[in-house]
This record gives sequence, C-alpha cells and structure tokens, in this order.
Amino acid sequence: MYIKKQRLLTPGPTPLLPAALHAMMGSDIHHRTEDFRKLYKQVLLDLGEVLGTSNDVLVLVASGTGGLEASVQNFFSPGDEVLVCSAGKFGERWVELTKAYGLKPTVLSASYGEAVQPEAVEQALAKIKNIKGVFVQASETSTGSQHDVEAMGRAVKKTNAIFVVDAITGVGTMPLDIDAWGLDVVIGGSQKSFMIPPGLAFLSISEKAWSLASSSSEPRYYFDLKKEKKNAASGESGWTPNTSLLLAFAEALKYIKTLGMDKLVANAQLLAKATREAVRELGLELFSSAPGSSVTAVRAPAGVDSGVIVKEFRQRFNAIITNGQGTMKGQIFRLAHLGYFDFHDLFAVIAELEIILAAQGLPVRFGCGVAAVQNVYAEVALSKEAALA
Ligand SMILES: *Cc1c(COP(=O)(O)O)cnc(C)c1O
Repeated sequence: MYIKKQRLLTPGPTPLLPAALHAMMGSDIHHRTEDFRKLYKQVLLDLGEVLGTSNDVLVLVASGTGGLEASVQNFFSPGDEVLVCSAGKFGERWVELTKAYGLKPTVLSASYGEAVQPEAVEQALAKIKNIKGVFVQASETSTGSQHDVEAMGRAVKKTNAIFVVDAITGVGTMPLDIDAWGLDVVIGGSQKSFMIPPGLAFLSISEKAWSLASSSSEPRYYFDLKKEKKNAASGESGWTPNTSLLLAFAEALKYIKTLGMDKLVANAQLLAKATREAVRELGLELFSSAPGSSVTAVRAPAGVDSGVIVKEFRQRFNAIITNGQGTMKGQIFRLAHLGYFDFHDLFAVIAELEIILAAQGLPVRFGCGVAAVQNVYAEVALSKEAALA
C-alpha cells in the first residue's frame, strides 16, 4: 500500500556509502598485480592516517572477531595472566576467546549497562603480578556503554602489559589517541563506522605489542601478523584478499579523510546526544549509565517487549533496528549512530518511534521527540549560521 524503502539502521552492518558500493563493481582485478599493490598500499596508508597512529596497521579478511582472535594468537602464550574488562556480550567474547587460547583471564566485570572503572584496572594491575595484557571494548555495542580507555591506557602503560582494545564500534564514535594513550593493539571492523559491508578486520600494533609477538607461542596459521606485516610492506596480503571490500574500503577512507575523522566522531556524538534528548522527551529511559555514541540502548516502556518495537519498525517502515542480545533481549532496543548516519535518518527514526509507541497504546504527543532532535540541530547549525551572518 505504501512504498517502504528498506533501511539498515543497525550498529553493524551500518548504512553503506554509495561511492564505496559502486567501487565494489571493479573487483575484476588480480591480487598479485601492480594495480592491486597500489590499492593495498593506499588503503594501509589512509587507514593509518584516519586512525591517527604511527603504529603499524594491518588488514585481515575476517569479520571483527577475526581481528580479536588474531590479537590473542599473536601476542600471548598459553598460561599468560591477563585482565579482561567485561561489561556486556562483547566483553564476554574476550573472556571466551582468551580462555580458548589457554590464557588465564581475571575478569573485571560490570553489570550490563555499567562500565568497568579505570581504577579497577589500576588496582588489579597492582595486585596481580605478571599481567601480560589488558582487554577491553572501547564501546560495548551490546549495552551502548563506553569505557574510559584513556585512563585505562595510562594505568597499563606503566606496566609490562599490553593494552588490547576492541574498538570495533569505538573507532569513529569517540576520540581515540592511539599513540598518546598507549593503545597497543586496536581492532576495528569494516561494517561499523567504515560504511562498507562486513568482511574486513584491521589492527594497529605498537612496538610494545610487537615485542611480545616474538615470544608468543600460541598456534596460528591464517592470522599470522608478522607474516602480514612483511607482505604489507610490499603491498600484498598473505592470502587472497577480499578485493571487492578493499576497493570499497579505499573509497570509504577517501570519504572519511575528506570529512575528517574528528567530524565523523562529532557526527556520531551529536546524533547520539539528540537521540538521548528525544528519548527523554518521550518518557523512555536509557539503558546505560555510561552511554557512548556508537549506539543508544533504550529500555522498552513497561509492559512492552522491545522485540515488538523492533518488529514494528520493520513491518511499518521497513527499517531494521536491533533488539538487546542475550538476557537484554526483549528489554532494550538499540538505535545506531556510527558511520553513514545523518540527521535525516534520525528525524525519521524518532518520528517512527513515536508512531510505534502510540500504536502500543502509550500516551505520546506526536512531535515531541522530533522537536528534541530539531532543537539539537538548531542549537548547533542555526546558531552557527546566525553567528556567521
Ligand atoms: C560488531 C562488533 C564486534 C565484531 O563482531 P563480528 O560479528 O565478528 O564483526 C566485536 N566487538 C564489538 C564491540 C562489536 O560491536
């Protein structure tokens, strides 16, 4: 009856950059040619630039979790004592992954919706001898929380441990000064802030981390970072790379360079702020006490299963948003801001949310959430124009 354009509004995969999507059609290239080497070298150079690091940067053919696994395999040995900060489903993934490779994780956990405090990391580092690594999510996508990786980095830097940061949704949604903050291994993924489909993971690796790599005795074959580093220097990857995604990545990096990484972060932060204000206006509650800007987790109103809200978005507007994961399923729904999201998207999402809440029989004054978003827009954009006039 109505046209409903399908819109992917999840915190990964995220909306695709059209230029990147178009570039994928040029994937009839071979990876042992000069054309490819030129592309790959440019991707690695631009990636280092947008991440703002002088550390080595490597790309792997895998979803983000492959990057997490590679960091465990390449810098550690069975029996190593490590600290894992866990505040959600992705924190739990670090626990499982470190255990799978025989590491001995001490888990610093925060309940869902909370963040692990940097002081807890500092205290654990002082108490437990011989910690080899500290693992955390910069942004815990399952709860919408973020961690203070700057303060944690300061604590880890003073020790022999390396700081391994799953920044898969942190990159592009929060400032991350990789070199100054001592973020030794930073992992990202293509389908989050980078506006391209899933399938590439990347890592930045500090000298401190490389020095651990030489004594690591974990088994590895496909994800051999030393081998990838050697190949990358000549513009090649160890195995057959995902050429179509690399073509897309090159375009997305070009776009982010033109926009500026700081602007990409500011964009997500502003949309997150406007979302929090709209949600408050609608009488809903945020799930996280330490909300980040990759995604906003909202508690479903009393008596409403969040899955119904997710389903309604899909059925009424063909918009795909996400439910909570694990025990948060049914309790929260999540609105994403990372990557190629704009005010246009947010106006629609909040207007649709108002309709969905009204359809559930909740008292909603149409437009009050949207007005909150308009006010945030007016504050930053209209006042600036007025000041310039
Ligand atoms: C998306 C995501 C991952 C990676 O998941 P994949 O499905 O392997 O891409 C890891 N950590 C966080 C915090 C994420 O948001």
